[in-house]
Amino acid sequence: MTTMMAARLHEYGEPMRLDRMPIPEPRPTDVLVEVKACGIVPNLVRVVGNFFGTRTPDLKIMPPLPAIFGLDPTGVIAKVGDQVRSIRPGDRVYVNPARKCGSCRMCRSGQPLDCPNFTFQGYFGRSQEIMKAYPYGGLCQYITAPEDALVKLPDNVSFEAAARFGYFGTAYAAMKKLGVGPGQTLLVNGISGTLGLNAAMLALAMGATKILGTGRNAALLNRVKALSPQRIEVFAVDDSKGTLGPADPLVAWAKVMTEGHGSDSVLDCLPPGASAAALMRALFTLRRGGRAANVGAVMETLPINAFWLMTNRIGLQGSVWFTTGEGEEIAAMTAAGTLDVSPLEHRIFPLSQVNEALAAMDNRNGGFTNFIVDPSFAD
Ligand SMILES: [Zn+2]
Repeated sequence: MTTMMAARLHEYGEPMRLDRMPIPEPRPTDVLVEVKACGIVPNLVRVVGNFFGTRTPDLKIMPPLPAIFGLDPTGVIAKVGDQVRSIRPGDRVYVNPARKCGSCRMCRSGQPLDCPNFTFQGYFGRSQEIMKAYPYGGLCQYITAPEDALVKLPDNVSFEAAARFGYFGTAYAAMKKLGVGPGQTLLVNGISGTLGLNAAMLALAMGATKILGTGRNAALLNRVKALSPQRIEVFAVDDSKGTLGPADPLVAWAKVMTEGHGSDSVLDCLPPGASAAALMRALFTLRRGGRAANVGAVMETLPINAFWLMTNRIGLQGSVWFTTGEGEEIAAMTAAGTLDVSPLEHRIFPLSQVNEALAAMDNRNGGFTNFIVDPSFAD
């Protein structure tokens, strides 16, 4: 077999089309992966609508068209380049889509996420050259990927569950920065969404003593609490009652939940379109010396008082994506059973229904629904 099917975007804003094209040949340090599942992130609808490209026309962050999207592929190694040593055909893998140049100062010092050419394979990024070198997103049957981008999957993790590693990894890398663990209380702002739910599942695995979560949908919040009724507490946010400061009902609730101290850390997982105020309200739940990380999509400017930040010794950090090593740690947690991925509900679409999969994303049970395209069914 020398050809494969690929869902390709020919024009922004148009549906993807199924094209037959050659199966790529891996370079010496690359592998060829037969894709078994590709996670569909809610943001993909906006990406293929050129939302980000239109907002930042000077950066040229979008891939050249026609393009194969698909951020979170999992599959089986079909072939390895002649310099690949530790990965063999038949291995089950998640492909970390984070690409770096490999030779800049940050790459050479082991910090690939800080590479100025940081680029997502199958999505968008800062380097047109890298996008041309790795033009295969997960919405096709075979992709090439560098050998150092592979997370080996334990047998007890399905391809569908592992297609969530992009979200798990994003939350995990940020939560490590926050020191989430035993004795700690973490507040997840937006806990019933895709990122927030995965953060809650990981916080349980990482040993956090208490997990506080905010959201809007009371039914979904109750489902999140049911994951661990003793350790998870949820708060339904009501904008009309919110204020920025100590009198805010959310702040008062967080204090009650923490014997008056406030939360040790905050992970912001708010969706696109959320307000700066919604993020600030969560920050005010922090105890003195507390730390927050932002992996959410608030685009408004924060009304933040630097004097408050200083006198309360508050830390605030942005975080994007995760290293392949951190992906391996998530795989190890799933293998050990400390990370339970069974709450995910997979909705699987064949490759031929990729456009239907994107359209169906409006109708999901928050972060519980896991949208998957399986390219082994192309028709
Ligand atoms: Zn670099």
